[in-house]
Amino acid sequence: MKAVVFTLGCKVNGCESASLISGLKSLGYDVTDKLGYADLYIINTCAVTAEAEKKSRQTVARARKFNKSAKIIVTGCASQHSPDDFLKKEGVTLVTGANAKDRIIEEINEVGFRKFDDEGYYEKYLPENPSRTRAYIKVQDGCNNFCSYCIIPYLRGRSRSRKPENVVAEIQRLSPLEAVITGINLSAYNYENIGLKGLIDRLIDVNCRIRLGSLEVGIITEEFLSALKNLKNFAPHFHLSLQSGSNKVLKSMNRRYDRETYIEKCNLIRKYFPSAAITTDIIVGYSTETEEDFLDSVNLCKEVKFADVHCFPYSKREGTVGAKLKELPSSVKDARMDVLLAVKKELKENFINNYIGKTLSFVPEEVENGYTVGYTDNYIRVYVKGEIPLKECDIQLIEGFLDGATAKIV
Ligand code: SF4
Repeated sequence: MKAVVFTLGCKVNGCESASLISGLKSLGYDVTDKLGYADLYIINTCAVTAEAEKKSRQTVARARKFNKSAKIIVTGCASQHSPDDFLKKEGVTLVTGANAKDRIIEEINEVGFRKFDDEGYYEKYLPENPSRTRAYIKVQDGCNNFCSYCIIPYLRGRSRSRKPENVVAEIQRLSPLEAVITGINLSAYNYENIGLKGLIDRLIDVNCRIRLGSLEVGIITEEFLSALKNLKNFAPHFHLSLQSGSNKVLKSMNRRYDRETYIEKCNLIRKYFPSAAITTDIIVGYSTETEEDFLDSVNLCKEVKFADVHCFPYSKREGTVGAKLKELPSSVKDARMDVLLAVKKELKENFINNYIGKTLSFVPEEVENGYTVGYTDNYIRVYVKGEIPLKECDIQLIEGFLDGATAKIV
């Protein structure tokens, strides 16, 4: 029997889907993660924006087009947020929430809505590694921060963390060239008073490159950075979520820092890792943002010299504090997005140009259009002509190319 586990949204969703794939394989299914003909579909949805939720609903219709008699199961944040939207869709047999997804494996023939509320749950089916060289390792779930624009804490519940030994065991079992430590709010990692620094200390003996997922400002301390410095093979890339460069807007977003602290933390990172890539997320057009506030975001980007900026137009999420505010017109959001995207492009090119001719460590991942593609330790996407062995090596950047740079092995 053929099955598809299709994932929308974040890396944590990706990890949970990898567990579902293992679970289905243990039942004898021939499973893929690409949408195509199948007898069973599990759609792992996302609700971080209204657009993501719409795409999740559309994916059900797309699956049904491949096989009208297939069984369709929907799980994830969008089905946790609005289960009825999926229950009423043709072909959908089972809808579950965002927790304990791989309990679906035991409930595959059930019909209707199932909400597994056991929050302290971790995936029973150990994920296989979809990529040959890079593995995403889920170490934390949920969030207690309740940023005013964010729906996630309402869908994924309170923060909970995985036993450090299980994290180390999973990395050793998957033995990737690079392990990406990820969570919904990774900085909130805390297992029986072992914080993220404590987890990092326990990764000291793993034999692969360690990259961290998105971080919150508060985690950046001398102690934390020293712990990273002790790792044998840490990838100096910090995705430090900013959201806005205006103190007034940060306050209304219920973010727990101001722009001065943010800049201070970036300087601290550069003290420990001078060649580090600092990347970030910025929400454009939050309801309290004036033109002046927006320029604060633009100027902070230029001051920090980010290696890349992920920009998102504000998406109102019903149920959040922010949803009570009057939204800015989409024309204003679009105009500001255009400005910030131009700044993003310039900053990214500048960052890459700083390393043209320089030697960096490279983990190749896959072959694409005649190039072997992967990332440097400081997160530059690299294209090496032809097919090269999938092992970590040193490369020299040649010139800017597509969303990264071409390079040659040295
Ligand atoms: S830290 Fe804020 S933005 Fe991130 S998941 Fe938690 S509530 Fe959402």
